Amino acid sequence: MAYVRHLYQLQLLDSEREAKAQRLAEVHDGLGESRELIQARQAVAETEASLAELRAQLRVLELDIAGLNAKLKQNQDRLYSGKIRNPKELTSLQDEAAALRRRRSELEDAQLELMIGIEEHEAELAERQARLRQIEASWHQDQSSLRVEKDKLEGELAALDEERAGVRARIGASALATYDDLRERQGGTAVALLKRGICQACGVDVPTSMARAIERGEGTHFCPICNRILYGG
Ligand SMILES: [Zn+2]
Repeated sequence: MAYVRHLYQLQLLDSEREAKAQRLAEVHDGLGESRELIQARQAVAETEASLAELRAQLRVLELDIAGLNAKLKQNQDRLYSGKIRNPKELTSLQDEAAALRRRRSELEDAQLELMIGIEEHEAELAERQARLRQIEASWHQDQSSLRVEKDKLEGELAALDEERAGVRARIGASALATYDDLRERQGGTAVALLKRGICQACGVDVPTSMARAIERGEGTHFCPICNRILYGG
């Protein structure tokens, strides 16, 4: 039957359509924010949060140190006012001054440590922000090329559908039913090419008499192994 040639045409169109539809699905998946972009943005936010926390701790320490300095000033003012004559009171003020200085020294150590931590976090933040900008730039580029590809694929798919409908219209209902059924059962390929007597889908050597009939375009023949419709080209 001459249908076989049309069926083979239909097979080519269907295979092309399937490949393009698959690519379109991939393009759809690629549109929108990537995991990489979301993670890079999260990394920046995390460092910003840690940095804010460290800066808040530093402000508290600075207030504590300022409070200690004020107390120490009061202490020193009293100590050197010349009004205190009682040796016990003098000793007690000196002890208090020593304790305040010790405490201040501890807080200043902690302050230094915090400042180092803040510097490290600032460096990390700058690094993460640079990485985010880089990812955003390449993401924007990818997105625009994906959108172009999406439009192109959609146009091609529409054209293929039209062409496919035209070919299907030339094939009889029962041949179409056989084709559709085979395509579903045989992984999308219902029609196989026969080249030099060999089924190009499964690789089997078909009987010579069948191969000749197929080459002459006589009748409909199915591959004895994979059961696909054979087309001689
Ligand atoms: Zn076969």
